[in-house]
Amino acid sequence: MAMTEADRAGLAHRYATIKRSIPEHVKLVAVSKTRTVEEIKALYDLGHRAFGENYPQELRDKQPQLPDDIEWHFIGHLQGNKVKYVVPIVQLVHGADSERLLNELDGRSRLIGRTVDVLLQVHIAQEETKHGFAPGEIRALLTAPWRWNALRLRGLMAMATNSDDAGLIRTEFDQVADLFNDLRLGMPQHFDTLSMGMSGDAQLAIAAGSTLVRMGTALFGERPTH
Ligand SMILES: *Cc1c(COP(=O)(O)O)cnc(C)c1O
Repeated sequence: MAMTEADRAGLAHRYATIKRSIPEHVKLVAVSKTRTVEEIKALYDLGHRAFGENYPQELRDKQPQLPDDIEWHFIGHLQGNKVKYVVPIVQLVHGADSERLLNELDGRSRLIGRTVDVLLQVHIAQEETKHGFAPGEIRALLTAPWRWNALRLRGLMAMATNSDDAGLIRTEFDQVADLFNDLRLGMPQHFDTLSMGMSGDAQLAIAAGSTLVRMGTALFGERPTH
């Protein structure tokens, strides 16, 4: 459905409000999964450049219809057989959640001669369904030499438990931030990104030390079911 003037005004208003609520040093990735090319272009026209998708084929289909200077982020769980759609396009893969996926990402990046930035996903939430490495596994991975030479490790990503319990969410974000700050001491300068916080918990994440928030519904409104 085409956007109306009221839709555009609403988007501009929400975007301005969100920008005001985020400190200068925190990056905003606009989560555009399920959103139309027109909606993405409307936010682009307001000056925004960083967009996040988490369905590989959707990203592949939308990207050619949009301006070249968009910075694409892949934010969700990525299956090995979908890596080929993502690697040529994205700047940063947020959810590297297994060694097998790192191998796939590295192999495909090499094949096309690209270096791709990645974040390791930390499993912190109480939900079994969420993906990621346990904090101890991340420490072990980073103690050994980094063997994925076509991937540049930029930091960590995490999702808190989907809950109304702000105390629980804060505890989880604090754990990830502690891990990040601790690891950072032994890592190169470009290990600088801590991706945590979505529409419902961005302020808690920022308070804990997030450097990047991924927001969809707060910007574009409720998502249609995919
Ligand atoms: C959908 C999604 C978001 C954005 O969620 P909102 O609640 O709409 O802000 C952020 N991160 C990931 C990994 C997502 O899948």
